[in-house]
Amino acid sequence: MTDKKEMPLIWKIGIGFVLGLLLGFVLGPMTNNPFISDYIIPLLNLIGNIFLALLKMLIVPLVFSSIIMGAASIGDPKTLGRIGIKTVALYLLTTMVAIVIGLTLGNVMQPGVGLSIAGAAGEAKAAAPLTKVILDIFPANPLKALVDGAMLPVIVFALFLGVSATLIGEKGRKFLEVNESIAETMYKMTGIVMKTAPVGIFALIAVTAAKYGPAVLSPFAKVIFAVYIGCFLQASIVYSGLITGYVKKSPMWFFRGVREAMLAAFVTRSSSGSLPITMRNVQENLGVSEKISSFVLPLGATINMDGTALYQGVCALFIAQAFNIELSIGAQITILLTATLASIGTAGVPGAGLIMLSMVLTAVGLPIEGVGLVAGIDAVLDMARTCVNVTGDMAVATVVAKSEGENL
Ligand code: ASP
Repeated sequence: MTDKKEMPLIWKIGIGFVLGLLLGFVLGPMTNNPFISDYIIPLLNLIGNIFLALLKMLIVPLVFSSIIMGAASIGDPKTLGRIGIKTVALYLLTTMVAIVIGLTLGNVMQPGVGLSIAGAAGEAKAAAPLTKVILDIFPANPLKALVDGAMLPVIVFALFLGVSATLIGEKGRKFLEVNESIAETMYKMTGIVMKTAPVGIFALIAVTAAKYGPAVLSPFAKVIFAVYIGCFLQASIVYSGLITGYVKKSPMWFFRGVREAMLAAFVTRSSSGSLPITMRNVQENLGVSEKISSFVLPLGATINMDGTALYQGVCALFIAQAFNIELSIGAQITILLTATLASIGTAGVPGAGLIMLSMVLTAVGLPIEGVGLVAGIDAVLDMARTCVNVTGDMAVATVVAKSEGENL
């Protein structure tokens, strides 16, 4: 009954975020107090992790059922192919622009110059070879892919199911109806989980702020600054440009509509984890159809990582400068290509981009120890890049919807 008076969710989430940040900064210097380190931080960690677990609980059934629904509602495989090509082309284009922004900032701001690299511990895990990345897209065992939450093979299987069920006409109708009912249930469940977001986000950011505090960041302030500026430019030039130039709407309309998802991505550091929220925001606030969003967004959360690509550009230059290695234009073009592939292969989970950075470094002969150099501050970089990753997905979903004649 008090519906009208209730504070909007985004405000609650914002308040949770600011309070969590403040609490983290207060707790940070007190972590040698056993009460804080043994009880308060673990408690906050537990609360944050419960929120993350709830989000993760949604991912597989939500993606699976909504992709089947998306494929079935597009129906005609030709239309599906057309939308697919547009989506992937836009994803690649925005990713490449992001890397160029990252490389430019790395060259101009020179974040690694003068940095002492003594004590950098190299613990890079090798990235998977490219052939394996490609092969893994195909679900040899779809049930295993579902159980493991391996998103690309799940997406491929769901697409096949949706298309096949449509092709058999009347006989596939029941299956699609049941699936639609599952998808709707999952959307509702997302809404319920979202109600816990203010508390979950409060706890997550408090733990991060307590761990990284403002002071710890100073030696790496320049690389953090470069990545954050890059992310800001990507959002304010590339995405705003697409929205104004193509969708013919104001950037404010877009960012206002997607702010919950951006904040969730920033705090959870996971594109996949934020997916339920990105789908909701894009459908409810921007008016993109279920048909488009349920196809474009899960795919984006899995393969489109503009922020990660940008970060890899900045970090490759940062590491080269820190190790006093000159990078030629040719090497930087190699970074452009490998970082595009690396960002496609990056899983939408916290810290995945750091592992894929080793692939980019190896491609241009930079020391893999550089990964150890970035590792200490990676969480802070991960927040900004994940935020851009999901914003890019949502911008592309909006553009594709517009191009299919949707009324936004
Ligand atoms: N955390 C990022 C994401 O989920 C991936 C990365 O580590 O770059 O989008």
